[in-house]
Amino acid sequence: MISQVETLYLIASFLFILGLRGLTAAHTARRGLILAELGMVFAIWGTLIHPDITRHLDHIGWFQTYKWILLTFFIGSAIGIAISALIPMTRMPERIALSHAFGGLAAALVGVSEYYREYGHIDHTTMGALGFEVLFGGLTFTGSLMAFGKLSGLIPGRNITWPLQNQSNILMFGGTFVLLVLVTIDPSNQVLFYAMAAMPLLLGILFVAPIGGADMPVVITLLNSYAGLAASATGFALNNNVLIIAGAIDGASGFILSVVMSKAMNRSFRNVLFGAFGKVDEGDAAKVAAGGERVQEASVGDAAMLLSGAGSVIVCPGYGMAVAQAQHVVGELAEILEANGTEVRYAIHPVAGRMPGHMNVLLAEANIPYTSLLELEEINDDFKNTDVALVVGANDVVNPAAKNNPASSIYGMPVLNADLARSCIVLKRSMRPGFAGIENELFFAPNTVLTFGDAKDTLEKVVDALR
Ligand code: NDP
Repeated sequence: MISQVETLYLIASFLFILGLRGLTAAHTARRGLILAELGMVFAIWGTLIHPDITRHLDHIGWFQTYKWILLTFFIGSAIGIAISALIPMTRMPERIALSHAFGGLAAALVGVSEYYREYGHIDHTTMGALGFEVLFGGLTFTGSLMAFGKLSGLIPGRNITWPLQNQSNILMFGGTFVLLVLVTIDPSNQVLFYAMAAMPLLLGILFVAPIGGADMPVVITLLNSYAGLAASATGFALNNNVLIIAGAIDGASGFILSVVMSKAMNRSFRNVLFGAFGKVDEGDAAKVAAGGERVQEASVGDAAMLLSGAGSVIVCPGYGMAVAQAQHVVGELAEILEANGTEVRYAIHPVAGRMPGHMNVLLAEANIPYTSLLELEEINDDFKNTDVALVVGANDVVNPAAKNNPASSIYGMPVLNADLARSCIVLKRSMRPGFAGIENELFFAPNTVLTFGDAKDTLEKVVDALR
């Protein structure tokens, strides 16, 4: 007969799957999250009454049984609540990278402690699962810390390279894998096990170091999938079904997201991981300077005038909108323009901002209807028939070099066709480049004007002028 624990785990797994299904569309995402959270409640409930935990309950009482779990539960919850309250949306990828780091560390530590506790009684299959868990857990831990360091600016965000880098990294990974096989054959060899546990910590650092800032989204989702694989391996080692299922879901969804994002940037996995992408392209900068083009500045009044005369406007939001928290005033501007008979739509690039769905979340916060948000491939052909492309703090995702300049490091990445609109208004604070660190030829185009300043301040003034 199926035990109470297994029933709770089954309900939890079912809720995780439903939750994931809910997360596939913006209008069901909130429900999906609630279902997944409910799933977590069932998973924790099942774990609290698991025989491995409760087997001495009658002798030692509930306090002795649960004291460490309760203590860590309260500490973990306090940290979780503080993080969610204190870290702004603009720094979400860093927060995600940090969560993955702790997820990976937890998996690796469980693996090492299981090995230590069960030493002498570990069979080959369990050893294989434990080794896998420790390998991917350790790799995720240091790799995610590196990603966190790069995104937060603690470590230079550009790619760090050295001679024969890919070859030495691949060789080390192969060596670690060989250690995993050897320790699976001989689980009693402690030297092999601890060497195999230490190597991934170094590998995580070496693998992420050469990957440039612009590829961090793909790296984070890939590390997410590694964390899932480590959790799933933990499930096999501990014989825990909910960990196997939840880890597999996490691993698969992280992997699919990495593929989707690589596609959005028109990059192959191999190129993302081994291409050392993201360095500043000096050639690009020199080309623009040699051309001698000048940017055309527009005052707030000029921008308001252009917008008031437009029959159609496409807003292209980017990371700067998130920094400025300009989403609400973007919504206000759209209302005024629509009341004036202007058609206003939003072009959402898949990697605009700093996390997948970043722009959708911010614009939803400002109550902008989902139906006005159009994906790149839905709207890109319409730019040429549009009066004004309003670029709000976007840079890389509207850079025509991705289409026109084979020498550019972002060449091949699909970008929004803001350059094809009749006029383009760019809102940014300076001539600093975006995340990829390269010059943007859109800013020098004859039909583009730049209004410098914080996007929220500028748009508030534009709204006042239009009123
Ligand atoms: P970019 O980083 O290319 O450009 C953002 C622009 O916003 C900058 O040029 C900056 O210029 C401007 N800006 C910053 N603050 C403000 C402000 N307060 N007011 C007005 N403008 C401001 O952003 P995009 O969204 O165009 O592109 C995203 C980039 O991030 C891509 O390269 C992508 O690969 C990468 N990335 C994406 C992730 C994702 O999952 N979506 C995750 C991590 C990275 P200035 O300083 O002059 O104001």
